Amino acid sequence: MIIAIDGPAGAGKSTVCRLLAKELGYVYLDTGAMYRALAWALLEEGLTCKEESQWAKYLPDLSLRFAIKEGVLTISYRGKPLDEELRQPEIAQKASRISQSASVRTFLTHWQRTLALDGRIVAEGRDMGTVVFPYAPVKVFLTADLATRTKRRMAQYLEKGISVEYSALEAQIRERDEADQKRALAPLKPAQGALLLDTSGMDISGVMTRLLEFVLE
Ligand code: C5P
Repeated sequence: MIIAIDGPAGAGKSTVCRLLAKELGYVYLDTGAMYRALAWALLEEGLTCKEESQWAKYLPDLSLRFAIKEGVLTISYRGKPLDEELRQPEIAQKASRISQSASVRTFLTHWQRTLALDGRIVAEGRDMGTVVFPYAPVKVFLTADLATRTKRRMAQYLEKGISVEYSALEAQIRERDEADQKRALAPLKPAQGALLLDTSGMDISGVMTRLLEFVLE
């Protein structure tokens, strides 16, 4: 059973997917973290300055590892865990940029399907329901208006001690959403049959109640 949840930045996907996976005893697969980690590794290896068409031959040899441990995705690069460093705003922008590459998408889609082989997964991203798991029996498109999403992201950054200016963050989120929606490969859009849930004005418990109703229908 795969639950595929997609939506733009700051829609609350991570929080609700983590809670949903916990509630159901499923694995939580944060595929955005995989794009961020790959952006990180490509930068570290100095590959982002090479032609994108060259990347495919380097990807399998990167010391980047994905695994599921105790119900969550763990990522390591050169043997060291990658986690908080991936949450920086500039890594999100870089992830969005590299996500337009066909070789990157093929590489990560393969990894995501491999990690999901065990079955019970809440998978969160931009193309879970449309491309990676189109046969998922439960698909959700979670969204919220730009102001709500910016405020939520701002609160997350403040919690982590990352300082950002509201208007700069709003512009970054808008720019990233546009790039994710307009790209040629796996553009961000609701999958066929997805529940469309606008979470503006809803709190976490309201969103969770609606999602659990939908999943258990
Ligand atoms: O979800 P998160 O904000 O961490 O994702 C970072 C970026 O990675 C997104 O803006 C998007 O460009 C890319 N991404 C993607 N497909 C996914 C998950 C993330 O293209 N399944």
